[in-house]
Amino acid sequence: MPEKYDKKYDACPVCHSASIYHYHSDFRSNDIYKCNSCGLQFMNPVYSDAYLEKYYAGYISPEYTQKTLDEQYEVAKQNFSVINRFKSKKGKMLDFGMGNGTYAQCARELGWQVSGYDVDCATTESLAKKLDMDIRCGNFDDIDWGDTRFDLIYAHHVIEHLKDPMQRLNSFQNILNDDGVLYIGVPNISAWGSRFKYFLEKCGIKKSKIGKYYDSEHHILYFNPRSLTKLLELSGYKVLYTCNASKPKPYQNPVLKFLRQNIKEKMSAGVAFLIIAEKI
Ligand SMILES: [Zn+2]
Repeated sequence: MPEKYDKKYDACPVCHSASIYHYHSDFRSNDIYKCNSCGLQFMNPVYSDAYLEKYYAGYISPEYTQKTLDEQYEVAKQNFSVINRFKSKKGKMLDFGMGNGTYAQCARELGWQVSGYDVDCATTESLAKKLDMDIRCGNFDDIDWGDTRFDLIYAHHVIEHLKDPMQRLNSFQNILNDDGVLYIGVPNISAWGSRFKYFLEKCGIKKSKIGKYYDSEHHILYFNPRSLTKLLELSGYKVLYTCNASKPKPYQNPVLKFLRQNIKEKMSAGVAFLIIAEKI
């Protein structure tokens, strides 16, 4: 059996500051640390590569319900309506960490020429056939993209799974057009609900499923808008826009949907947020 965890970090995995401290321990017995310098929270020690590889080999379930697919499609439409404000001319797009392909399909219908990437080759092979799409897999740094430069790199709920997000953002620099944009969507660890639960847990009032909101089954980094902005700046990007990203409901009445997206989600720190950035 491979080791489940790496050696413990003694510095922040993003900004390398040594000023880190134990912040929480969740019900899965994972320890969460926080960086005083950039505000990032991270699993420490973190899962080993061998453990993660085994986990991701079974990550994409072939059994998605229609309801889940409809919800993913609605999320994609919402994300692309934001992207459209910064990149209205549709060109080449890379869906990095494309999962089951719903976001890529939505992008293609909107006019993007989509390529995809995900880590597990067995999964991406069947997806490439199903969608008739250029999809790459394996070690991202080994992929030869030729002369291709993307106008949009789309990373929806992927960065929080990476051990070295700065390395990935640096490699995006080489394949993103100078006037291209980077979309990143992640859960918000500073969401009002998570902060309230953390408070109750630290006071000993909430005793079950401690730190469930970390989703440490598969998430190893825990961002808020400040720490993701810092990561992007350190990786050579300028943030153009940040907003809360609500989960739209496909069958919700349009008035409620509008209120939810435009009022509720701008008033409080929602469960997820998105950032649009460009190369400096
Ligand atoms: Zn840091």
